[in-house]
Parts: sequence; structure tokens; C-alpha cells
Amino acid sequence: MPPASDDQERTPPSPDTAFATLGDETRMEILQTLGEAEESLSFSELHTRVSVRDSGRFNYHLDKLVGHFVRRSDDGYDLARAGERVIEAVLSGVVTDRPTVEPTRIDQSCQYCGAPIAVEYREERISVLCTGCAGTYGRRDDESEYGHIGSLYLPPAGVENRDPAELYSAGRTWGGLATMATASGVCPRCSAPIEESIEICDEHEGDDVCGACGSRYAVGVAFRCTNCIYERSGLVGVRFLTNTDLLALLTGHGINPITPESHSRIGTAFAYDEEVLSVEPFEARLTFTVDGDSLTLTVDDDLAVIDVTRDRNDRTQDRSNGDGG
Ligand SMILES: [Zn+2]
Ligand SMILES: [Zn+2]
Ligand SMILES: [Zn+2]
Repeated sequence: MPPASDDQERTPPSPDTAFATLGDETRMEILQTLGEAEESLSFSELHTRVSVRDSGRFNYHLDKLVGHFVRRSDDGYDLARAGERVIEAVLSGVVTDRPTVEPTRIDQSCQYCGAPIAVEYREERISVLCTGCAGTYGRRDDESEYGHIGSLYLPPAGVENRDPAELYSAGRTWGGLATMATASGVCPRCSAPIEESIEICDEHEGDDVCGACGSRYAVGVAFRCTNCIYERSGLVGVRFLTNTDLLALLTGHGINPITPESHSRIGTAFAYDEEVLSVEPFEARLTFTVDGDSLTLTVDDDLAVIDVTRDRNDRTQDRSNGDGG
């Protein structure tokens, strides 16, 4: 076994060098073997488990990984954090797999029209579709029988061993957590700060999907990571998924936004009423209603909540200025 050296302190490789290092079957096999091992492996244990027999060649490839991707200690070899992240990415399926699921009805109903919903999976995305109405964003084309309600992100590994209903639930959890991070200003991919911008349709019409912007809602938000390429856009209401008053409304009615039991329950909560009070500077009132209890958040140009009003079934209370009643 070669002696341990101080190569673990080397400066991190450039992206080019890092990818070049990984562009070899033997090296990926070494990383995968270390990832599967329960404990540190000695040079000879690792060599036995990897298919390359020539020990000079094996040592050459291992040496390329030691430092940034593989850690060498007195106990043997382990994955370093970067090596773990590479293997996690491979096992999540995002690097190699492209599963698809054709639109399939599940036993859940649309929050807008009550018709059954269907789920479709492709390109790491679950599309939640309505079989009855145009959903939130309309039909894909005139012939489509499905209206697009929304999307939930899920890596390919999430499709394995799950039926479409389970796929939907997993997407709610995975996608919901990513949305919560995004709405909190933290990139769910790389953790860097997120920038957000408000998008308002100035020709918005109708109670249904608007012909001008293609959405049921006039106000959307675009999110962009300041470090990586992560970008998402969504309804402004979803931006408040981590607002404690909204969480209180949801959980007070037994709705867990991360593991909702039914699509229509969480969907109804997010089928909110939107009232744009001012475009420049932006100010809007968003009213979320569950079982007759409603919560109105007034939000400003920075998407800060400047007023909170809760209207309950039985009584009204205004928490923001204390003079409600
Ligand atoms: Zn519908
Ligand atoms: Zn519009
Ligand atoms: Zn990022």
C-alpha cells in the first residue's frame, strides 16, 4: 500500500479537471465500491472488489481520485464528500436514467372542478393533470384532454417501485421541500441565495385560464439561483408556503403541506383568491380558504407580508393591528 501523503490538502480541482478525473470506468467503479462499503477498505480489499486485476493500473486510477474524491487514512480508503456527492447523483438516477410514466388517473380530485386528476412523469417532473378542466395553466394543445394543474419535481430514483399515486405523494414531499427552500431564499440544489422577481400579467382576464399569460393567476414569481443554474417559476401564493400564518391555517385543518393526504385538500388551500391592489409598486392581497376559514396576506413589492387577516367560520380576528373583532 502506498504511504499516506498530504495530497488531501491539495487545492480543489477545476470543473474540467474534476470531470476528466471521473471520465473513466475504473475510477467510477472505485467510487461505487467505496460507496457500497460499510467501512474503510484497505488497498488490497478495495483492489479485490474492483474488476481491474493489474495492480499498477488499479493504483494509477486510485491515485487520481485520492485527495478530492477519496480520502486515505490509517484505516484505509473512504469516499471524501465530493466522492459521496458524485455517487449520490449517480444513484438518484439524474445522471443516467430517463424513466417516463404516461398520464395515469389516480384516486384524487381536481381542486378547481372536482374531476379526477392524472399524473405523468418525464424529465424529472411529475405533471399533475386534470381530466375535466383546463387546470391552472391550460391544456397543452387544443386536442389535449388534460389541463395542467402544476408540476412536482422528483429524481428518477423516485419512480422506482412506486405506483402513480405513490409517485404523486413522493413528488408532494420532495417538491414541497424544494419549494419551501426556494421560497425561503435558499437554493435547493446548491444552497446559495435565490433571487426572485414578480411577474404580473397586465391583460389578465377571466376566472379561468387567461388567454394572455396562460395562467389562472395574474401574479407569478420567478426564482433564480445566484450561483447555479437552478430556476423555477410559480404562482405567487406558493411563495408563502413557509409563512407561519398560512402553515397554521393548513395544519389547523389537518393539512400537512409536506405529506398531504389528498390533492384536493392541499389544492383547495392553494386555489387562493388574488387581488392586485397596486402594480407599481406591487401590492396584492392573497386569500387562502380551508373549510370556510380564510387567511388574507397582504404582500408588498419585496413579497414581505405587511398585513395578516384571519376570518374564521365562527368569528373574525385581525392579528395584524389588533383592532379586528
Ligand atoms: Zn379540473
Ligand atoms: Zn393573464
Ligand atoms: Zn443553486
